[in-house]
Amino acid sequence: MASSRVDLDGNPIKPITICMIGAGGFIGSHLCEKLMTETPHTVLALDVYNDKIKHLLEPETNPWHGRINFHRLNIKHDSRLEGLIKMADLTINLAAICTPADYNTRPLDTIYSNFIDALPVVKYCSENNKRLIHFSTCEVYGKTIGSFLPKDSPLRKDPAYYVLKEDESPCIFGSIEKQRWSYACAKQLIERLIYAEGAENGLEFTIVRPFNWIGPRMDFIPGIDGPSEGVPRVLACFSNNLLRKEPLKLVDGGQSQRTFVYIKDAIEAVLLMIENPARANGHIFNVGNPNNEVTVRQLGEMMVKVKGLSFIVYSKVSGDPPLENATVDVSSKEFYGEGYDDSDKRIPDMTIINRQLGWNPKTSLWDLLESTLTYQHRTYAEAVKKVIAKPVAS
Ligand code: NAD
Ligand code: UDP
Repeated sequence: MASSRVDLDGNPIKPITICMIGAGGFIGSHLCEKLMTETPHTVLALDVYNDKIKHLLEPETNPWHGRINFHRLNIKHDSRLEGLIKMADLTINLAAICTPADYNTRPLDTIYSNFIDALPVVKYCSENNKRLIHFSTCEVYGKTIGSFLPKDSPLRKDPAYYVLKEDESPCIFGSIEKQRWSYACAKQLIERLIYAEGAENGLEFTIVRPFNWIGPRMDFIPGIDGPSEGVPRVLACFSNNLLRKEPLKLVDGGQSQRTFVYIKDAIEAVLLMIENPARANGHIFNVGNPNNEVTVRQLGEMMVKVKGLSFIVYSKVSGDPPLENATVDVSSKEFYGEGYDDSDKRIPDMTIINRQLGWNPKTSLWDLLESTLTYQHRTYAEAVKKVIAKPVAS
């Protein structure tokens, strides 16, 4: 496998060692899977949890056995971190608190996790001349310029007012009381720090801005493999509602718009960055699917029914009858508490990633929802049924 693989410029790809921080999360688990099944690279997988990569770590008969080693550690306070970064050719930092329900309710943890805890990673990479791929977020763009125009302004339809470009668009956040922006602001500052390390000290870096990557293993289902009161990101919230046969909750009417990209498409982009350093270093990349734009309301409606057909995606998957009242509106204050705010619209400009890496997303929203909901049903339906069937303690 190793000898036949070439990069985008036709050069053979040499096997490398990757220190992956946050390898046990949603994106990390898919990236580890890709690296194990399709490349000769070795992964030092760092995380506090490993449930989502257990299938890669065991059994010992896995063909990649020995190429992935799990190190259970918290990067906040573990002296092994620098040594592991030094052992690797490349560090990928995915570790973060990145669920919006935390941004306004645990702003200190959010800022520490996304900025302070990432500082030693950047420092060790810079001091030891190691390449860094750092995961930021599309949320650094905040709100679009267009969102400040009058509702009926024709300019709102002009892409110049909403398409998000890595090297041109400003970062527009709400006031400090709107603590939702604690995450975006922390991510923005770590991006600026990494960029400055590149400019002043020659750090070789790539920054990734994911635009709503979704798919199997995203987050958790409350009360099943996460806290009962926990609020995951929208895919898991809606999946949870569907599994429990509850209406999907649309925050502030579900008017915000998002573009969703299938995790497996997005991972292809990350692999191109890993294996084409000359094309990826020094760049910030939007990674999303501009063709998969919907309002959150439309996402909810899609998760309940297949386009143009009268049967239900989820019930197609589960065999259950359709929900009657499929959605319900809730205020953001009720759902997330004080200090919540939202990004209105997120369309990634794809020029830079296209030019540098020739990457394009492939999977339509319909297709990715169908495969993801099939996974959710297979993984959780029985467990949820059991929880629902339990008599409530009086
Ligand atoms: P995730 O929560 O599933 O994964 C993050 C992982 O980091 C978790 O396994 C967690 O245990 C680990 N981690 C957190 N703090 C740690 C610490 N102190 N020490 C060791 N491990 C720690 O999230 P994800 O969706 O996989 O996101 C990964 C990265 O991508 C994050 O930086 C996130 O901000 C960014 N991102 C993701 C999306 C998306 O669409 N999924 C969108 C925007 C940005
Ligand atoms: N949202 C919703 N109902 C839910 C969960 C989320 O309407 O049960 C909305 C949320 O307000 C936001 C969008 O869905 O407008 C996407 O939320 P997500 O948590 O996935 O993260 P974001 O894209 O905001 O980073």
